Parts: sequence; structure tokens; C-alpha cells
Amino acid sequence: MVVPYKILAPVKDRKKEYRFTAPVAHLLALVSDQERRVILETKIYCRSLIRYIPWFRTSKGGGAITFANRRWRSITYTENFFSNDLSRFGEKAYGNDTMAWLHLSAHEVGHIKHGFKYGSLLIYLIAFIFQYIRFGHGAAPLEIEADQGSNTLMRWHNYLKINSLGDIVSLLQSDQQDEVIIAVLDTWWEAFQCDLNSQA
Ligand SMILES: [Zn+2]
Repeated sequence: MVVPYKILAPVKDRKKEYRFTAPVAHLLALVSDQERRVILETKIYCRSLIRYIPWFRTSKGGGAITFANRRWRSITYTENFFSNDLSRFGEKAYGNDTMAWLHLSAHEVGHIKHGFKYGSLLIYLIAFIFQYIRFGHGAAPLEIEADQGSNTLMRWHNYLKINSLGDIVSLLQSDQQDEVIIAVLDTWWEAFQCDLNSQA
């Protein structure tokens, strides 16, 4: 098992529990319009036998599931997100794939809002199950809402690339201090927002 470099940090004294690093939490807060503090507090897990959720097949790329209520939240990712084992997961071994992590996480943190909205985990789960049965997973309104974060991330990423302003992955993987990375992210975000506003 690998801990995705510069994406997650282990929680002290707690086995197998992680948090997002400060720059990643900052980036996710920007694209998903959530509070950074709430994202930083979110518990991150790898799927295991005792935590055998979500049920996505890793051969199809795996996935993640977010559980949230008003007070706490956790995201559990499938094993391929914690592995570089190509013989086991092929190109879906995302342990070192920063963009795969950011893309999925930008979607998952969108569900944090739903935790606040429904308040209790039971009602949250019932809302999802109801929508999955009624609309199917991909067309469920709660899923479409959460996609806003990952869509914004990709638009921002492409904007930076097209205008040769920088690369989010290289920035996050760099050896700069967290505060420096966060400051650069803010500059890039501002440029992106100005561009969006000028088009509106
Ligand atoms: Zn989702």
C-alpha cells in the first residue's frame, strides 16, 4: 500500500486513517466551494475487508464513497488509489496519479454539502438510495451536483495549460512550502475567475 505523495498525510496515532494535505484541501475548497477547515477534518480511508465499501470494481477504475452528516465526514477510496501495482490494477493503479486523486476528490467533497443538508447519516443514505433507484447512479441529481467540483477543476486545469500559466500537478508535487503552494494556487484561481467573469 502506498500513501499518495503530497496528497494525503497519515493521522498521528491512528492506523490507516489519513487527511488531505493543506494545499490539496485548499485546492478542493476552491473548486468545490466548501470550507477548507471542513475538508481538512474529513477522514480518508482505503477500502479494506472491514471497511468493504464502496462496491465499485477496481478493474473499472474503482471509486470512492463519502459518508457525511452535520458533524463529521469520511471518504473511502478503493484499493487501486493506494497502489502502484500495475500487475494488479493495470493503468488504474492510481497511487501516484495526482490528477486521478484530485478529480475524484473534487467530486467526493461535493457530497459534504449533502451531509449538512440532510443532517443525519441515515437520511443522507436514504436520499442517495432513493435517487440511485429512481435515476440511476450517473443521473442522480446529488451526483450531478457533486460533479460541479470535478468539472470546475478540469476547466481550471485546462485554462492554466492553454495559457501556459502553470501545472497544478507539478505545483503540488514540488518541494515548496505549503504556504507558497497555497499562495500560487490563489493567484492561478484568481486569474481563472477573472477570465470566467470577462467571458460572462
Ligand atoms: Zn458521488
